[in-house]
Amino acid sequence: MTEKYIYSFHKGDGKNKVLLGGKGANLCEMTQIGLNVPPGFVITTKACLDYLESHLLPDGLMDDAKDHIAEVEAISGKKFGNSRNPLLVSVRSGSAISMPGMMDTILNLGLNAQTLTGLIKQTGDARFAYDAYRRFIQLFGKIALGINDEKFDLHFVSIKKQAGIKSDMGLNADHLRQISELFLQVVLEETGKPFPEDVFEQLELSIKAVFNSWMGKRALDYRREFHITPQMANGTAVSVVAMVFGNMGNDCATGVGFTRNPGTGVNEMYGEYLVNAQGEDVVAGIRTPKPVHELLHEMPHLYKQLVDLRNKLEAHYKEVQDYEYTIECGILYCLQTRNAKMNAMAMVRTSVEMVAEGLISKEKALLRINPELLEQLLHPQLDPEHSEHPVAQGLPASPGAAFGKCVFDADTAELMGRAGEPVILLREETKPEDIHGFFAAQGILTSRGGKTSHAAVVARGMGKACIAGAEAIKIDVRARQANVGDLHIREGDIITIDGSTGLIYLGKIPTIEPSFSEELKTLLAWADEFAEMEVHANVDTPERARMAASYGATGIGLCRTERMFNASDRLPLVIDMILADNKEVRQEALEKLFPIQRDDFKQLFEAMSPYPVTVRLLDPPMHEFLPSEHQLEDEIKSLNLYKVMIHGQQVTLDTLGAHIALPEPFTLLNEEVINKVIAKKELMLKKVKELYEVNPMLGHRGVRLGMSYPEIYQMQIRSILEAAALCAKQQIPILPEIMVPQVITVQELIKVKSYVDHIKEEVEHQYGIRLEFKFGTMIETVRACTRASELAGVAEFFSFGTNDLTQATFSFSREDAENKFLPLYNETGLLEDNPFEVLDAKGVGQLMKMTAEAGHKTRPDIKIGICGEQGGHPQSIRFCHHIKLDYVSCSAPRIPIARLAVAHAKLLENDYRIS
Ligand code: ADP
Ligand code: MG
Ligand code: MG
Repeated sequence: MTEKYIYSFHKGDGKNKVLLGGKGANLCEMTQIGLNVPPGFVITTKACLDYLESHLLPDGLMDDAKDHIAEVEAISGKKFGNSRNPLLVSVRSGSAISMPGMMDTILNLGLNAQTLTGLIKQTGDARFAYDAYRRFIQLFGKIALGINDEKFDLHFVSIKKQAGIKSDMGLNADHLRQISELFLQVVLEETGKPFPEDVFEQLELSIKAVFNSWMGKRALDYRREFHITPQMANGTAVSVVAMVFGNMGNDCATGVGFTRNPGTGVNEMYGEYLVNAQGEDVVAGIRTPKPVHELLHEMPHLYKQLVDLRNKLEAHYKEVQDYEYTIECGILYCLQTRNAKMNAMAMVRTSVEMVAEGLISKEKALLRINPELLEQLLHPQLDPEHSEHPVAQGLPASPGAAFGKCVFDADTAELMGRAGEPVILLREETKPEDIHGFFAAQGILTSRGGKTSHAAVVARGMGKACIAGAEAIKIDVRARQANVGDLHIREGDIITIDGSTGLIYLGKIPTIEPSFSEELKTLLAWADEFAEMEVHANVDTPERARMAASYGATGIGLCRTERMFNASDRLPLVIDMILADNKEVRQEALEKLFPIQRDDFKQLFEAMSPYPVTVRLLDPPMHEFLPSEHQLEDEIKSLNLYKVMIHGQQVTLDTLGAHIALPEPFTLLNEEVINKVIAKKELMLKKVKELYEVNPMLGHRGVRLGMSYPEIYQMQIRSILEAAALCAKQQIPILPEIMVPQVITVQELIKVKSYVDHIKEEVEHQYGIRLEFKFGTMIETVRACTRASELAGVAEFFSFGTNDLTQATFSFSREDAENKFLPLYNETGLLEDNPFEVLDAKGVGQLMKMTAEAGHKTRPDIKIGICGEQGGHPQSIRFCHHIKLDYVSCSAPRIPIARLAVAHAKLLENDYRIS
């Protein structure tokens, strides 16, 4: 045998988890640092892979195993298969990545008719021996021989019943002997062969069974669910460990512990134990375990040893550990350790405290936390104590939990929101004109659309809970009702949504507010020390800007001005502007909008002072500000009916000849007024039809609007520059940036720049000051990428709009892709990730790299960032660092994640590979 397949715990490399599995490697490591681990050895994952390929154990493997058993015999003083002093072992699985409960472990192996008698004599405890025996037969029967568990359980239950006993603890030696005999019978019946008496045959069959469990359905499903690739874990190792017994009397126990509290991070003894029990009893919940503090009173001496074990584990691993131990007749053995899984709060707290204790460096403190985990800390969570059952589930589109009264349109949401009611806005899908409803609502629920639907993107931007695509819910806006099967949810009914899980509940479930703890502040301040890229925010309002600043944003990377247009006090003005059929009328509407926009910008600049604020000029196609054709036709129909009614009323009054004075509302809404309204609606309808585009997202939008209607862009530019001037007058340090969307050619930029230059001169003259600002472009068309060197001649900054750029590169739209074929592409591996969530480094990323290089060549000090949704995604952030961007910009709630991720990107830059 050339390949070494087996390592004793004294020899195996504790760092090599890929070869020895996490459990095996740590058993080696613990043995070698002098912790009390029962003797044993590890069979490698390589042996597993070879076995799975050929269906044969590698040549000589069992001989080698025999030699290693001999070693264990020498250390333990017991003998495998010996009837006087039998050695029993456990055969345990374990791969490089822990997959709790997904693969199998066999305990008490080595028992047969002879060793059983030996064990009874040796321990003087027949009950204990038979208990071990029946457990072994069942586990071995199930795992190694493939016998259905129920066959055994049936007998177990019937013996219990016959004896009139409720709990397993009540069974005596004789009951357990009967059970063992029945179990042996089951094996004979089910396999046609007697239970294997030869202990090495038992060992061989068990090793094979553990190897096979790697390809078992449970394990396969688990690996798929958690994206565990063969690079991360390939095959399971087998650890063979001398058994120790926690169930040999009252000086025995078994327990599990964490070196710190995994719920809060507090540095304290944490865990549970059971006296006179075996390891699996704690997990299986057969008896209720006691908190570890009670061990202090029950076995003070061993409690001290346990504290010592915990301290040694942490001092060595320099990480919070999750460990298993067993006390056999007053001696403490450690059976397993691994890095603990903790919630975000505990991860942050332990990071900060372990640095203070000198246990780990700041780098390690940052790197041990997955940035995505921080998401938990920034949104309200459902009270974990709640016990409600969900009525439906949609896509978790924007995290956080919220409850409120159901409303079915944005106007009602706004009305009720103003009245101080918590509301949840339910729509089939949302449109930009629903924006005021978003502001008013606690949460948004749609029955259609994916995780990047309008509702999802806007809700995430605002940090509001959102569930999208809850298809089981049928929304009937006219009836003001939503139906889930036979269940009706009416307007005003309270529901709770959890945007982190997509679950929807009836009634109110209390939520817990997020908190930005001192520890999190400390941790992120360390992240800033290492980071090279800055983190900016995608926000549109002063409140959100202040929030982003408090989360540590050092700028606004994207302010979408259309969000301001959609607010309900401006939308009528915007509509007038769109309806205008000549420049003068349009100018009039724009003049009314101008001071409003200027004040918006001034507040935004102030909120982000002294950091840069990038304002994008108007981007969406105009029709987005108008109601849909369908809605207008409906409204016109109603108006005409109303007109007939008014007319009828007049006729009635005239006929009666009576001079009845109508109440004011009737006279206010007279025929003349209605005619005016109808005329306006008809004009809107006509405009909507005119503006109709086959492909609005590829149509008349972005800078193309600025070319067709210069006065709109000019009004916005003037608002920005006057706001800047007003701030300058008040000595508020600010840094505005004007950004042009959808650019394809440098001529467009030159044109907009000419508006800017002209207005700048006027404003500077008017206010008697000099303005400091930057002019730049979004890069979101493929052509812009190919023309980057020319664009950089005019633009002082580039900002990658990777939402549109991704659509343009893939030539498919996000909505259609996500709703139709992208899931298939991801599941079958045609595409690794959803490129709208994870930046496509291989495709879109290459365009970005080329663009950034060309930009730098033309203008060495050009500032380059990303403002697409992927800008808040850790893996995408690593790519942005790799191509040396200056900043990433993301929605406010993702800022802490991004701050940690930019530090990771720097600290891990040397081993970055485009996967
Ligand atoms: P899992 O990966 O499911 O935790 P383990 O291999 O850790 O499976 O074993 C299952 C249970 O059996 C655990 O409680 C463990 O502590 C216990 N156990 C495993 N090996 C031994 C042993 N040699 N002596 C005593 N208990 C053991
Ligand atoms: Mg375990
Ligand atoms: Mg865009």
